[in-house]
Amino acid sequence: MQSQNSLSRFIARSARAVTAAALSAGLTIGAAGNAHAQSVPIVRDAEIEALVRDYARPILKAAGLGNSGINIVLVNDPAFNAFVAGRRIFINTGALMTAETPNEIIGVLAHEAGHIAGGHQERLRDQLARAQTMAIVAGLLGAGAMVAGAATDTRGLGAAGAGIVAGGSEMARRGLLGYQRSEETTADRSALTYLNATGQSAQGMIKTFQRFQSALSLSGAKVDPYQVSHPMPRERIANLETLAHESPYFNKADPEALQQRHDMMRVKIAVYTQGQAEASRLMRKNPGSPAARYGDAQATYLFGDLRSALGKTDALVKAQPKNPYFHELRGDILMKSNKPAAAAEAYASAVRLDPAKSGILPIQLGQAYLAMGTPDALKKAVAEIRKGLDRDRENAAGYRYLAQAYGMQGDVADADLATADGHYYSGAYQDAKIFAMRAQQKLKPGSPGWVRAQDIINYKKPGKKK
Ligand SMILES: [Zn+2]
Repeated sequence: MQSQNSLSRFIARSARAVTAAALSAGLTIGAAGNAHAQSVPIVRDAEIEALVRDYARPILKAAGLGNSGINIVLVNDPAFNAFVAGRRIFINTGALMTAETPNEIIGVLAHEAGHIAGGHQERLRDQLARAQTMAIVAGLLGAGAMVAGAATDTRGLGAAGAGIVAGGSEMARRGLLGYQRSEETTADRSALTYLNATGQSAQGMIKTFQRFQSALSLSGAKVDPYQVSHPMPRERIANLETLAHESPYFNKADPEALQQRHDMMRVKIAVYTQGQAEASRLMRKNPGSPAARYGDAQATYLFGDLRSALGKTDALVKAQPKNPYFHELRGDILMKSNKPAAAAEAYASAVRLDPAKSGILPIQLGQAYLAMGTPDALKKAVAEIRKGLDRDRENAAGYRYLAQAYGMQGDVADADLATADGHYYSGAYQDAKIFAMRAQQKLKPGSPGWVRAQDIINYKKPGKKK
C-alpha cells in the first residue's frame, strides 16, 4: 500500500481536486481544456466542512436556498476568497484562517448567498460560457489556485496560490468575475436580511469589508481575489454600517461553543498549511485554550514525536470525549505509528460521534481496516468505504481505496470498476473508460456494476464537439 506523508493527508483524505468537469456541472463552459491540468486544489476535512456547513445552513435557509442542494467546497489557497459557481460555494482556507470570529465568515457567506438569490451569477455564467479557454476560467475561479497537476501532486498545501496568476488571467478575472456595484448593494441588503432573520450580527461582514477597503490585504497576498471581484467603494461600506446598526442583533456575539470550534479550525489550517511558526503565533494569543492544545497535539503529530502526540490527544479526548475530531486525530497518529487496529477503533469512535455524518471518516476507517489486511478486516474495509462513498459520491480517493480493498480480496471486476470511478471523479475520463471496459468484461451484463461501467463509457465531456 502506498504511504502518504502526514502533511499531504490533510488534502489526501479524499478528492484532492475538483476538476474542470466537476466545476462545469454547475457552470456550462464552452470550450473545456484538459481537465487534468486545470484544477482547483480542494481541501477535504470532515471537521472544517461540518463547521462551515453549520455556518451556512441557517443563512441559506433564510435566503430560500435551504433545499437547493448548495455545497460548500474548501479551496486550499492562502488568499482571502469566497465565490459562487453553480450550486457550490467555494471558500478559501485563507479566508477561514484570517477570520477571527465565526461571524466574519457567516457574514461573507450571507453576502455570497445574496449574490446567488439575486441571480447575479447568471450573468457571470453567460460570460463564462463565452470564455475562450478553461485556463481562464480556472484562473479566475481559483485566483491563483490553479496548480497544474494538483490531482496527483502533494505539494498542494504549500504551493497553492504561489504566483500563478499571470497578467492575462488577472484581466480575465477583473472582466469576468467582477460583480457590478448595483449587485454589491443588493447582495449587502440581502445579507442583512438573512443575518437579521437568523438573529446574527452584521459586524463580522462589515469588519471583513472594512479591512479590504482599507486596501490592506488580509492574507499578505498582493491583492486578495475577493477584493477584485467585489468592488468596495467607501460609500458602500458606510451605507452598510448605517443599516447594520439598526439591527437589534448588532452587538450579539457568536455562541462560545461556535467560537471554540472556529478557533480549532483556524489552528488546524495554520498547522497543516502554514507550518509550526504560524500555528504557534495563533496559539500564543490564547495559551492553554482547547484550540491551542489541539494545535499543539497536531503540530506534535506532524513535526514531532508520535508518542507525545498521542499523549496530548488522549488528554484532549478526556476533556471532550464526544468530539469526533479528537478521535480522528488519534486515528491519524496511530496509523502513522503503524497500529492500524488501534487506529480503526479510534476512527470508529469518530464515525459514531460525527453529527455531520461526513463521508470522509468512514473512508478513513476503511483505510485502517485496509492496512490490517486480514480477510475479515478487508470485508469491513469495503463496507466502510462504500458507506463513505454513499455519503460523498465524488470522493475520488475513496474509490482508489475501495479498488485496493477489492483487489486484495481478489475481486478484480469490482476493483476495476472502483478504479474507473476514481479516475472518473478525478476528471481522467480516458483512464476511467479503459477501466470501465475492463470491468465490464468480467461483470454480468445488466448488473448494477455493469450499468455503472456503461455510464462511464458513454460519458461525454460537456461542451466537447461531436
Ligand atoms: Zn459581492
